[in-house]
Amino acid sequence: MKLRNNVKGIVKLQETPGSNMHRIIERAVFNELVNLLSPGKDPFKPLKNKPNVIMFVGLQGSGKTTTIAKYANYYKRKGWKTCMVCADTFRAGAFDQLKQNATRIKVPFYGSYTEADPVKIANEGVNEFKNEGYEIIIVDTSGRHKQEEGLFEEMKDVADSIHPDDIIFVLDSTIGQAAQSQAAAFKGAVPIGSVIITKLDGHAKGGGAISAVAATGAPIIFLGEGEHFDSLELFEPHSFVSRLLGLGDVKGLINEIKDAGILENNKESVQRLAKGLFTIRDMRDQFENVIKLGPMDRIMSMIPGLPQNMFGKGQEKEGGERIKRFIYMMDSMTDAELDCKVQIDESRIKRIARGSGTSPAELQQLLVCHKSMEKVVGKMGKSNLLNDACIFYINL
Ligand code: GDP
Ligand code: MG
Repeated sequence: MKLRNNVKGIVKLQETPGSNMHRIIERAVFNELVNLLSPGKDPFKPLKNKPNVIMFVGLQGSGKTTTIAKYANYYKRKGWKTCMVCADTFRAGAFDQLKQNATRIKVPFYGSYTEADPVKIANEGVNEFKNEGYEIIIVDTSGRHKQEEGLFEEMKDVADSIHPDDIIFVLDSTIGQAAQSQAAAFKGAVPIGSVIITKLDGHAKGGGAISAVAATGAPIIFLGEGEHFDSLELFEPHSFVSRLLGLGDVKGLINEIKDAGILENNKESVQRLAKGLFTIRDMRDQFENVIKLGPMDRIMSMIPGLPQNMFGKGQEKEGGERIKRFIYMMDSMTDAELDCKVQIDESRIKRIARGSGTSPAELQQLLVCHKSMEKVVGKMGKSNLLNDACIFYINL
């Protein structure tokens, strides 16, 4: 409702004859979604050389224990003295799960096979690690299958006892509309400081994130995108909304490429992109990057203009295979063909298909894919691609 009213207000304000209403509305929706995801409160920042106690809460199966391992790994790699406490005495095997994760990422852990009181374990573990000078002390708590009084009582008792510096609410992105009531219920029991949305590597786009922020008033800090310890991404509202709306995420893509150190070899291509030019050779470079970057599904959702019928959700594996075959085809092209200096006609198609062991039909697909990407890049080129990537999308 808030979004709708705000968008209406903006559209009225800017209503001038001849203006591009479609563009104004799109931009307004984008900005309003970003605003909804920015609660105007900075997330908790741990302080060096002091114990920071961080308590994780969420329903059973939401991904707490997995996310704790990722979170611990994130801080450990940045040089923080990190450890974990297992105060989940409800789920059988909870301590073993945490222990295994902790061992794999090599951080110390605390827990008990016999003690049934989560408050007692949480207290003992936190105190012990405080005395040993740990900086990031993460406390895992138990969940329940559904929101119920017993869970909330237990959460309150643990929180009252250990006084966490931050309480992180872990929300499964696949629950859909239930996000709102779940987040509100948790917020009613303990002061939620931050939110982490998990399982965004699946089919869910994470619209529930908006409800979670609205219900808790707490900022999202990370997104969980897989079961591995490094599948944790810092939350960035512009990128998130771009992907939520299916607009691709050039900013995110460029960051990934930068991180992988690939940008150095692609300076010319990036310069052309910034001008809105996109040759078949550029497409070849992009596809090579995609293959180096993996995991495919995440990267592919960031590429603007990639035809969804060839590379959509649920076809990541086929998509990866297709990209490889596209690269074979492009390797059979001449420089003039790659640089789009000649028209790729019927006879060239036949020659390239024969040379690369593919078929003319596949080559047609490649050309369709190139046209689609070229079109989007051409539109984006009118603005400053590297700095203001998300905003461009709105101007498409
Ligand atoms: P907890 O009950 O809240 O501690 O949840 P767990 O950490 O045990 O996770 C429940 C299940 O979800 C496990 O099978 C995890 O591997 C899986 N899981 C957690 N986070 C993610 C994620 O980001 N992506 C995917 N695909 N699976 C996840
Ligand atoms: Mg757990």
